[in-house]
Amino acid sequence: MQYLTVLGATGSIGENTLDVVARHPDRFRVFALSGHSQLDKLARQCGQFKPNYAVVADRESAALLSGKLRSLSLATEVVFGQQALCDLAAAPEVDMVMAAIVGAVGLRPTLAAAQAGKKVLLANKESLVMAGGLFMDAVRSAQATLLPIDSEHNAIFQCLPTTYGPGQRGGVRRVLLTASGGPFLSVPLDSLAAMTPDQACAHPNWQMGRKISVDSATMMNKGLELIEACWLFDLRPEEIEVVIHPQSVIHSMVEYVDGSILAQLGNPDMRTPIAHAMAWPERVVSGVASLDIIRTARLDFAAPDLQRFPCLQLAMEAARRGGSAPALLNAANEVAVAAFLGGRLPFTGIAEVVSAVLDRVEITEPDSLEAVQSCDQMARRSAEEVIVQLTGKG
Ligand code: NDP
Ligand code: MG
Repeated sequence: MQYLTVLGATGSIGENTLDVVARHPDRFRVFALSGHSQLDKLARQCGQFKPNYAVVADRESAALLSGKLRSLSLATEVVFGQQALCDLAAAPEVDMVMAAIVGAVGLRPTLAAAQAGKKVLLANKESLVMAGGLFMDAVRSAQATLLPIDSEHNAIFQCLPTTYGPGQRGGVRRVLLTASGGPFLSVPLDSLAAMTPDQACAHPNWQMGRKISVDSATMMNKGLELIEACWLFDLRPEEIEVVIHPQSVIHSMVEYVDGSILAQLGNPDMRTPIAHAMAWPERVVSGVASLDIIRTARLDFAAPDLQRFPCLQLAMEAARRGGSAPALLNAANEVAVAAFLGGRLPFTGIAEVVSAVLDRVEITEPDSLEAVQSCDQMARRSAEEVIVQLTGKG
């Protein structure tokens, strides 16, 4: 029996994780669940999975959730705050941690799981983008097992040879990172500025949380994934090619020196990478239907248009620059996306904000979590200033 903490249980990845857990009661048992704003959903999840602990943001939410759980006669203990998230990610009873909190707030608990040597199922790409060096050092020194949940990285992981590792390339030449292109792949360029949050979140192939959906529409998501792939697989940015593949059937590919290209295919459903990582190195049923390869019929590929997707260009530059650049990019993007979702910034303003922050804030070489967090804070303040200047709205 594997004991699991799900950080961000109430989100899209969290729900898909619990769907897989429910299919294998003989294999997986939930130790702790965390939520943030959706307390009713968290209470329902506690009712179904009966975790030892539930974590929420603050004392008030904890009191509210405790009330809901008492009426269900549940013994789940309710705790709150960042330290509780870290403690439940690192608890000795826990074998696996699903890191599925969205954004920079996910870094500390995800890092705590790595430092405690857990099997870390990494959905929170922001952890690696912000603090890849520190994170990978923690994984190595605590001998944690890091398994990618992001569908592209999970696909790459599945296509890499078993001989791939530190100092061993196993004949790999490069990686082809596929991208759907999101909902705005072919809308006229001059209409992008007027796109609404609901239009940006209407992804053609994937059901995801709102932040990553907007990142897919700007293709910042692919830029963050490029940085994530560099850390996970010890690659240089030049060894990764971003390829637009609108059908989202191939989830990424690995090219070898002999000219072979291996691809992982499947329906776009996150339960596949989740089940793969949870059961690795075995395989379990995920609930995902077979891919109908005949109905799929064709697979298209194209190069990304960097004029349409300036966020991808900015992320590629930050990947090449290294140091604090990816952390600044990530923080500025989080603030800009929140402003867009809140109706304070037009869609095209997201790239403008990120670009301005990268010009304004000095790029450094952070060597501690505190230094990374101070870069993150600086970029957030700068992004707020830029938004006010661009829009006149505070
Ligand atoms: P969602 O927005 O659906 O879920 C986010 C989760 O984080 C929710 O449980 C939410 O709680 C919780 N949360 C939000 N803010 C805070 C906070 N301040 N403190 C603690 N918890 C918080 O996001 P997704 O599930 O889509 O994405 C989660 C992560 O996985 C992201 O890093 C994303 O990039 C990555 N990912 C997602 C994919 C997907 O298909 N969805 C694919 C690949 C990667 P609540 O809802 O209760 O407020
Ligand atoms: Mg992805």
